[in-house]
Amino acid sequence: MNSEMKLQIKTFISNFIKLCIKFIKLLPNILKTLYKEVLQRLRFSISFKITVVYTWLFTKLLIFSSILLWIICSSYMVTSAEKKVSQNLDLVKYYLANNDIIPSKQLENLSTISKTKITLFDDNKKVIFNTSKSNTFYTGNNNINKKYRFVFNGTVFNEDSISLIINNKLNLKVDSIYVQINYILADELTNSIKLLILLFCINFIFVFISIRPGAKASKKLLKPVYNMSETVNSIDVNALDTRLDVSGSQDELKDLAKAFNKMLNRLQDSYERQNEFVSDASHELRTPISVIQGYVNLLDRWGKNDTEVLEESIEAIKSEAENMKNLVENLLFLARGDKNTQVINPEEFLLNELMDEIIKETKLIASGHNIISNGSYDINLYADRKLIKQALRIFIDNSIKYTAKDGNITINYTKVNNEAIITIEDNGIGISAEDLPNIFHRFYRADKSRAKDTGGTGLGLSIAKWILLKHKGNIEVESHINVGTKFIIRLATIN
Ligand code: ADP
Repeated sequence: MNSEMKLQIKTFISNFIKLCIKFIKLLPNILKTLYKEVLQRLRFSISFKITVVYTWLFTKLLIFSSILLWIICSSYMVTSAEKKVSQNLDLVKYYLANNDIIPSKQLENLSTISKTKITLFDDNKKVIFNTSKSNTFYTGNNNINKKYRFVFNGTVFNEDSISLIINNKLNLKVDSIYVQINYILADELTNSIKLLILLFCINFIFVFISIRPGAKASKKLLKPVYNMSETVNSIDVNALDTRLDVSGSQDELKDLAKAFNKMLNRLQDSYERQNEFVSDASHELRTPISVIQGYVNLLDRWGKNDTEVLEESIEAIKSEAENMKNLVENLLFLARGDKNTQVINPEEFLLNELMDEIIKETKLIASGHNIISNGSYDINLYADRKLIKQALRIFIDNSIKYTAKDGNITINYTKVNNEAIITIEDNGIGISAEDLPNIFHRFYRADKSRAKDTGGTGLGLSIAKWILLKHKGNIEVESHINVGTKFIIRLATIN
């Protein structure tokens, strides 16, 4: 090796050492970043969590099966050793039975071939023959009659291993003799350790190999979730009709997608209803504003000096302003109801007293109609008296509005079990079967042209329904066109 080459090798080694030192210096930072990355992923990535959990379970399974395999193999090795020792004992017995003196040559040969130590004792447990030069033997518990024994190093022998010992008493022609065969389980121990290391390496390789496919499989499993989040991200008010894909296998994710779709249906529904509500409200407000504008223009042009035009205009503006006020009040009521800010002040009161009050007022307002009433006493309610009155007024006012003069309006109230039942019945124009399911919808009016004359806004029944539902009440309606309409209202009493 020339000096140039030596120098090159020297520089290479010194560079390598420098690099190693740099790496060791960087190692804490690398480990810190790795730890942070793992923590971050564990916190946010379900796919990473699944991979970790499955790898951990797989590792546990592998370790468990390897330990099981190791125990089976090791016990097989020990059983084989036991068989070998017992065969040796049979041979020793045979040699001793067929010789008058101790056949030391044969016993030594046997000891060498089978890698065992053979020791013979007399009746007084004194050693009379030993194949081992060290002249050591096992005397644990002083009981050499016991069959197999495992003795760990350091107890009696100096060998660095575990021994398998067999003791046996032989009754020979003259006297009896004790045999001890000692087999050192050195090979078995080495093989067992080798097997353990091999299994550990195989486990490590298997676990390492399984990480990638595991990560891939968990990503594949979670693909529908990625797709779902992509679709959900693309949904905004302009694309409220977008729905998640629910085709494919029937699993929990499909249930989740279905639940999402149901939620989107509800959102779209309420968004559309909100839009409809705003456009209906604007439409309803536009009419009185246009009428007022029309009369103001009329007044501006001709009405200043014409008292007839002046009076007509003032009357019309007053009536339209009243309609607008009613409409805005109703709209505000429903908006408060939707926002849950409508205050409800429940109190204990007698329904029969409230009904008397309402009937008296009705008789004053609807003097042209026949108001027939019949009711029971002592109907105690715990509710917002003002709101209940407002709801009942809506039903009665409708009966007046949609029943011709001289028509009958029958108001009954009674108590059945723990329920107050109020019926408001008229023999007016009635409601057709197609309109009946819609009358509680906001701004719905069965007969639009007639509703205009009656000054209705189409919000009355929605308000009444809201009030009664908030009091856990119930409304039923029966109606036939040109026969009449009957509203049945039920409310819980407190006695
Ligand atoms: P409106 O202000 O138009 O009366 P409501 O919400 O109170 O609004 O009622 C909705 C619709 O139900 C009315 O426009 C009318 O067509 C119908 N209706 C309600 N009560 C009666 C009734 N007693 N007789 C006939 N039709 C009725």
